[in-house]
Amino acid sequence: MSDAHALADSFGRIHNYVRISVTERCNLSCEYCRPDQAGAASSPEPLSFDEIASVVAVLADMGVTKVRLTGGEPLVRPRLEELVARLHAVSGIERIGLTTNGMLLAAKARVLREAGLTDVNISLDSLQPERFARITGGGDVGKVLHAIGSSLDAGFQRVKVNMVVMQGVNDDEIESFLQLTLKYPLDIRFIEYMPIGRGTKGWQTGYMPLGGILERCTKAGWAFEPVSSADPGHGAALGHGLTMDTSDSGPARYYRIEGAAGQFGLIDPVSKHFCMTCNRLRITASGHIKPCLYWNDEWNVRPFIGKSEQLKQLFLRSLEHKPGRHEMPDGLTESGSPRPLQENTVRQMSQIGG
Ligand code: SAM
Repeated sequence: MSDAHALADSFGRIHNYVRISVTERCNLSCEYCRPDQAGAASSPEPLSFDEIASVVAVLADMGVTKVRLTGGEPLVRPRLEELVARLHAVSGIERIGLTTNGMLLAAKARVLREAGLTDVNISLDSLQPERFARITGGGDVGKVLHAIGSSLDAGFQRVKVNMVVMQGVNDDEIESFLQLTLKYPLDIRFIEYMPIGRGTKGWQTGYMPLGGILERCTKAGWAFEPVSSADPGHGAALGHGLTMDTSDSGPARYYRIEGAAGQFGLIDPVSKHFCMTCNRLRITASGHIKPCLYWNDEWNVRPFIGKSEQLKQLFLRSLEHKPGRHEMPDGLTESGSPRPLQENTVRQMSQIGG
């Protein structure tokens, strides 16, 4: 890779991570993401596996080492393992992750692992069958739990479970999720509810900052400590107490309850934005580069596929326009209510991929 092509933006942030949405379609319709849309057929033709592999090869030449496949629901795309194998063969790509709702994962975990998938993130917002079905528009929590077990059995480097914490919806289950870490070698990650796309609708009432989770852990009688930089796979502790998960280039701060098999992480993009360490680019299913999750500017890669130099210039141009930080309303006002919304992205989360 020549320096001229390093994926640096105008703030000096280097980008080595790309998240690619492989379809807008989903087999669930989570109420905060895409209600009433399961299986919606109106989505645009997604990039083909050939197109995705060719774009990733160009990005790898520019220093990208990690790819995450997302959606919609990536596993509704037939033969996803073939795409994983194609990306695994791209020189320079070291990690390939998948973000999935887990409904179709159990039967595929091993074949995906064998194809070269290294990391799995499974979304799970409730452990209660009825509540889970209500939040997801018909999901089966039993299938997701089975998928988590199958992923552990398949030997992934990291199995992460992502819970979007929503006040009055599932915040009473935080302790139950923490409890999972006691027994299983999982990363349970609590994520703040973001005001994006359809998520804006219930955001004012559902948003809660994650600040109280450590206190709840203590109240439950669990001693915990931050996962130190020496812990394999968890990167270096930064000076301000933020433990960056640099192995996965993620923004989670991780903790481990004494004696637990797994650990838990807090991801708070709203109350503590971490834009200064952002190293990621997104590509939507329709083939548009999105340098920032919460920003409308996009660049269409389709006309440049197969034209490496032009595609490189397009990526560099997109980064010139990447904002220093997103402009999500940051947390709560002094009176404790969420700040007013701005519409800084017209895309739905299911189109971007999270
Ligand atoms: N279908 C896959 C899944 O469920 O993981 C991948 C796509 S989904 C859009 C990716 C992630 O975005 C999920 O974990 C989902 O919970 C999260 N998400 C969607 N809308 C959100 C919002 N408004 N705030 C926070 N997370 C959100």
